[in-house]
Amino acid sequence: MLLLVRRGTSEPAIGDLAERLRMAGLSAHRTDHEGQARLAAVGDVASLDLEAVRAWPGVESVRRIETPFKLVSRAFQPHDTVISVGRCAIGSRQLALMAGPCSVEGEEQTFTIAAAVAKAGATVMRGGAYKPRTSPYSFQGLGEQGLRILRRAADAHGLAVVSEVLDPQQVEQVARYADILQVGARNMQNFSLLREVGRTHKPVLLKRGMAATVEEWLMSAEHVASQGNTQVILCERGIRTFETSTRSTLDLNAIPIVKELSHLPVVVDPSHGTGRRDMVAPMARAAIAAGADGLLVEVHHDPERALSDGPQSLYPAQFEELVRQIRTIAEVLGRMV
Ligand code: PEP
Ligand code: MN
Repeated sequence: MLLLVRRGTSEPAIGDLAERLRMAGLSAHRTDHEGQARLAAVGDVASLDLEAVRAWPGVESVRRIETPFKLVSRAFQPHDTVISVGRCAIGSRQLALMAGPCSVEGEEQTFTIAAAVAKAGATVMRGGAYKPRTSPYSFQGLGEQGLRILRRAADAHGLAVVSEVLDPQQVEQVARYADILQVGARNMQNFSLLREVGRTHKPVLLKRGMAATVEEWLMSAEHVASQGNTQVILCERGIRTFETSTRSTLDLNAIPIVKELSHLPVVVDPSHGTGRRDMVAPMARAAIAAGADGLLVEVHHDPERALSDGPQSLYPAQFEELVRQIRTIAEVLGRMV
């Protein structure tokens, strides 16, 4: 349920409205839009007498939020959410370029790639220290040692850090090193993990599950937001379809759909979305043209020897060329890198 508060209502009076909602067993969340306070009341709203709520002091209007996701909906917050991370304002006119290896493999590898992606124009470095691998015999990541290396390499080049957290018990540790907590496709509906990252104050990069609908994806974002953390960056990374010529089918339709339904920023991962190095740049360009707020790209200086996802990793020179192209596309769209 959405309460629009009459303009000019005092802060204590707005606080009273939120308190009344809480007394009714609901949780109250606030956003301000064009100088007007808006309260989303979530929970069992069916038992509430809407006519009585309309008569509360300071209430201008009351209406239902029709979608199952509430806090992440455009109905609640009409303007775009902008998330500040390091030098980047994700969801603003400025595009967010996040790049780095699939996995942190060691000091030399990570520092080499950090230098390359920073030089090319990335502002956020990616790198997995905890890896969700299909096989238990594949490289599982360097854990905390990997996070430490990633942080130092990123700091050396003025980059922010995004890294995946696999388990609710790891959240505290990963949050100590990373600026953005990545929830992977395989964990999109790990509700205890969503709850745990929702209790932190760190931005969350929420990947779309490979068999998840847009609505299910937004419901997962709602889980995070419901815990008080509304800094969620959605990441389209391809879905599983009948098509087998690429690793995944990158669903670019999702970008304008999500933009219509939600105020959250959306970035695209063309690396996992295609699984093929030669397709990363074309799909990255298409994603930006379709309105994505940024990219998450795997880059490796020696992909033949990468411990994970080498075949889809760009060489540094390819990433540099891609950023040049993205810059030109951004200009046409009134955006910038
Ligand atoms: C990754 O970013 O390296 C990763 C494992 O991605 P996803 O969760 O999209 O498969
Ligand atoms: Mn990967």
